Amino acid sequence: MVSGPSVVVIGGGWAGLTAAVAAARAGWRVTLLEASRHWGGRARRQFLSDSRGERLALDNGQHILIGAYGATLGLLEQLGVPWQRQLQRLPLALPRPDGSGLVPPGWAAHLPAPLTLVATLLTARGWGVRERAAALSRAARWMAQGFACRPQATVADLARGLPARVVADLIEPLAVAALNTPLHMACGATFLRVLRDALRAPAPAGLSPSDLLLPRNDLGALLPDAATAWLQAQGAALRLGLRAVALARCGAHWRIQLDDGAALYTDAIVLATPALQAARLASTWAEDPACPATQADALRAWAACASALAHIPIATVYARAARGWRWRWPLPLLALPCDPERAPAQFVFHRCGGNEENGALLAAVVSSPAPQWNGRRAGLAAAVTQQLAAALACPGVQVLATVVERRATFACTPGLQRPPAWLADGLLAAGDYVQGPYPATLEGAVRSGLAAADILRRLPWPQPTVQHSATDGQRHR
Ligand SMILES: Cc1cc2nc3c(=O)[nH]c(=O)nc-3n(C[C@H](O)[C@H](O)[C@H](O)COP(=O)(O)OP(=O)(O)OC[C@H]3O[C@@H](n4cnc5c(N)ncnc54)[C@H](O)[C@@H]3O)c2cc1C
Repeated sequence: MVSGPSVVVIGGGWAGLTAAVAAARAGWRVTLLEASRHWGGRARRQFLSDSRGERLALDNGQHILIGAYGATLGLLEQLGVPWQRQLQRLPLALPRPDGSGLVPPGWAAHLPAPLTLVATLLTARGWGVRERAAALSRAARWMAQGFACRPQATVADLARGLPARVVADLIEPLAVAALNTPLHMACGATFLRVLRDALRAPAPAGLSPSDLLLPRNDLGALLPDAATAWLQAQGAALRLGLRAVALARCGAHWRIQLDDGAALYTDAIVLATPALQAARLASTWAEDPACPATQADALRAWAACASALAHIPIATVYARAARGWRWRWPLPLLALPCDPERAPAQFVFHRCGGNEENGALLAAVVSSPAPQWNGRRAGLAAAVTQQLAAALACPGVQVLATVVERRATFACTPGLQRPPAWLADGLLAAGDYVQGPYPATLEGAVRSGLAAADILRRLPWPQPTVQHSATDGQRHR
């Protein structure tokens, strides 16, 4: 039976799940609160039905991991998730539907990641000598500079002078996939850091850091199911559908006011909500007359930094191809020729799952949709359908759902100020937006959860104290 100090993790996305698991492993008694009815946050299972009544376990958006996501893969390993089976391993490739684009040749499959990249650039279909030479010399320059650049450089600055085809086939899809931020706004230093890790970071045996890892099942089956089952087995309290609305210091403890009128008392809190909600929660204590002035100032500064982050949407159009149409490309993803106004999807994925006899399942991703699509889900889906019909020779596509995540990721811009993990004694933050080397990604979220638990581990060990208020005792026993 765990008898350590108590921590309440507020938010059950990948950062909160990670913080909860890591804190429980360190001996903390964990309560995990999630405001919605599902675990996983922005990377969660979502059920959809097609017109034939088939129920499909899909996601709130197509996700992709890479071999360099060491913290995420390590966590899955610890939880006993058979990730080698659950993730489909692909080489780093950006193929186009017409056969052009970037695909490493078969003979390069077992080379170290930097040499595979060289082979890919040398053999890119549709590129001439000028494109190959320019791409290779730019990659060599970035490597020689240790993948560092001016802090204020954008990805567009890094790509200046490269042939348009190299930007369209290589730089743009990589920046969209990694940073979800348009090139002219995207942070060059973060882009190079992700590229460096994809080429040089250690990867688990049998993987290259640059490998793309596509979930074979829904995202719930990857981390949230395993993490919540593990936490339950450790005696952690898991609360779905409960929202934290205010924080206050109460003697030696923290008090968390919940939206059902109850309250929780705990030694420590990890705020693992998105940035804006974390800022609001931190402000409730900062504006409490009982909050000491210096702490209130620090919390206000933290909240201002978190609320200043801009966010970028991602839309995913799930669709069924007509019966009889077959996906004919060797890899299950394609980079699409796109135009924000008429052909807005940058990628299309051939999704596993579902009965292929009912038609191949497709997920088309629109990163940062143009403003004209705001509030026009049906129009966006129609444009993507037409785009797929033209690019894949795939007429008669039936749209299953268009999922728009308005605040999918923070805009990863140069010189961005991100708030730190530490807010006050026993009050920490975890989330993809918290200071760290990664853009808004699963790996960034997992790393932040581990970092918060690491800070908890270094706190002086308080007496075990979780108590429930009278209402809480009645409502949450
Ligand atoms: C469509 C889409 C595609 C993406 N593609 C990729 C990809 O390919 N690769 C990649 O690595 N990353 C991708 N990302 C980014 C990745 O999903 C996020 O970086 C990551 O999931 C963020 O996790 P988090 O735990 O920090 O935040 P969240 O997932 O937002 O979790 C926060 C949780 O807090 C809960 N909450 C909020 N307020 C309260 C409250 N007051 N009380 C209790 N609970 C509360 C929320 O309901 C939520 O569940 C994508 C994101 C989206 C949306």
